[in-house]
Amino acid sequence: MSLQHDVVIAGSGPLGIATARRLAERGAKVLVLEQGEPISEPPGSHYRNSERFIRQPDSYLPAATQYLEFFDDSVPRDALPGAAVTRTVGGQGVIWTNLCPRGDALWPLMSEEVWSERYLLAEKYLGVQADTLDRSVRQQRIAAALKPRAEASGRVVSALPVAGHYRDDGKLRYTGSIDILDADAAAGKNVSIRRDRVVRVVHEGHRVKWLETASGRIEAASYVIAGGAIATPQLLFLSGIRPKALGRYLSYHPLAVCQVVLDPEFCRADGQTDIDPRIQVRPSETAPWYTLILHDVSPFTPAGDDVEIGSNRLVEIQSICPVDNEEHKRAIFHEDGRVTFDVPLSAADLARMTDAEKEAEELTDLIGRTRDGCSLTWMPFGFAHMTGTTRMSKDDNGTGVSDYQGRVWGYDNLYLATNGLIPTRMAVNPTLTGVSLAIHVADRIQV
Ligand SMILES: Cc1cc2nc3c(=O)[nH]c(=O)nc-3n(C[C@H](O)[C@H](O)[C@H](O)COP(=O)(O)OP(=O)(O)OC[C@H]3O[C@@H](n4cnc5c(N)ncnc54)[C@H](O)[C@@H]3O)c2cc1C
Repeated sequence: MSLQHDVVIAGSGPLGIATARRLAERGAKVLVLEQGEPISEPPGSHYRNSERFIRQPDSYLPAATQYLEFFDDSVPRDALPGAAVTRTVGGQGVIWTNLCPRGDALWPLMSEEVWSERYLLAEKYLGVQADTLDRSVRQQRIAAALKPRAEASGRVVSALPVAGHYRDDGKLRYTGSIDILDADAAAGKNVSIRRDRVVRVVHEGHRVKWLETASGRIEAASYVIAGGAIATPQLLFLSGIRPKALGRYLSYHPLAVCQVVLDPEFCRADGQTDIDPRIQVRPSETAPWYTLILHDVSPFTPAGDDVEIGSNRLVEIQSICPVDNEEHKRAIFHEDGRVTFDVPLSAADLARMTDAEKEAEELTDLIGRTRDGCSLTWMPFGFAHMTGTTRMSKDDNGTGVSDYQGRVWGYDNLYLATNGLIPTRMAVNPTLTGVSLAIHVADRIQV
């Protein structure tokens, strides 16, 4: 029997679409199934590119976060009140903030050269660049002020790459999931995206036979589950695919944010608009967290005399603190479809957070002062960057869900493309690494 599709992919987030593009470039006919509705026009483009957010940038974050569906935001810290999924065409890749650093805790999946090649391709797919930041006055002056302090603890200060391109007015046009595909029209022709929900992966022996969806049965030669770091293992669980490591070794990023009013010497004096800065302070052995100084989105409502402050005087400091991968830190999947979490932070995790908090306070003093109403705040735990839930392992020894090719252990034609594959404690934002992995997985699928 000839099949209509070579590969079916569940999920239209950036990783699903990157997998589709890579497969299509290799000549495969690909079907992407997405359970969510579009929230942007064209579907799958970045929600933030709409005129209303260009006119009122501060209205973006509350509007975007309405698309986060929290599992239970009333639970205590270890049960991750911030854990959420987004069901839309394009997944969270239509509401993300597009920061695209390369990974900091790579594992020997590929040689350094091959990692570098994969990153280059992922950067091309996502339209990642950092060059325009050279034109930002705040960027240059803040980076110069931070460098001596950061370098003393072995940390590198550099421009933070972002997925998008700058318009003539200095505003960024953000890359959304669908742009990954549209960037290459030939690949686009081999990919169709259909609204449907995968309910179950039907398998026999070592092979997946078909996907059972809300509208019927879909068959292909190979299957990729790209539903995000929670829905992917959840679908495996509900399909009776339950390797020991499923949902375990969960890592995420406790994320602290404050907003700073810069001292005038860091800002343009001529009243002209300055390109918003994006600076990264990379993790090091003695300071294993990731610090960002940027003017992007702020979760705060400023108070007092600080309500009216020009955008050119403001930056946020974000401290991203990775959580150690430990077997007992986990998502728990229930037969009735619920997902709960148990991720107790260890003394080492908490110590990292204390150190990062102290650093954020010191950096604030170095460049300005905290804006009234915007002091350092930890975002709801579990909100940012979940990884590890379907981790890769070198051997089928119970510590991983897939092999180093993203193929689920024990199955010949079932692959994963999700940040859940990342097996290490990565401190930086994960999507660029996730897209690199998606390309790596796509290249291993026979077409
Ligand atoms: C506000 C915000 C800001 C962010 N900023 C950054 C950033 O600056 N840098 C960075 O690196 N990362 C950032 N992220 C994280 C980034 O968005 C994710 O890493 C990325 O979207 C993950 O892509 P994905 O394709 O794996 O999953 P998702 O984007 O979650 O997409 C998964 C898709 O699969 C669909 N799906 C799931 N199950 C099924 C099923 N059974 N059937 C059919 N469809 C299904 C879902 O509906 C969803 O649309 C941010 C996230 C948020 C929420």
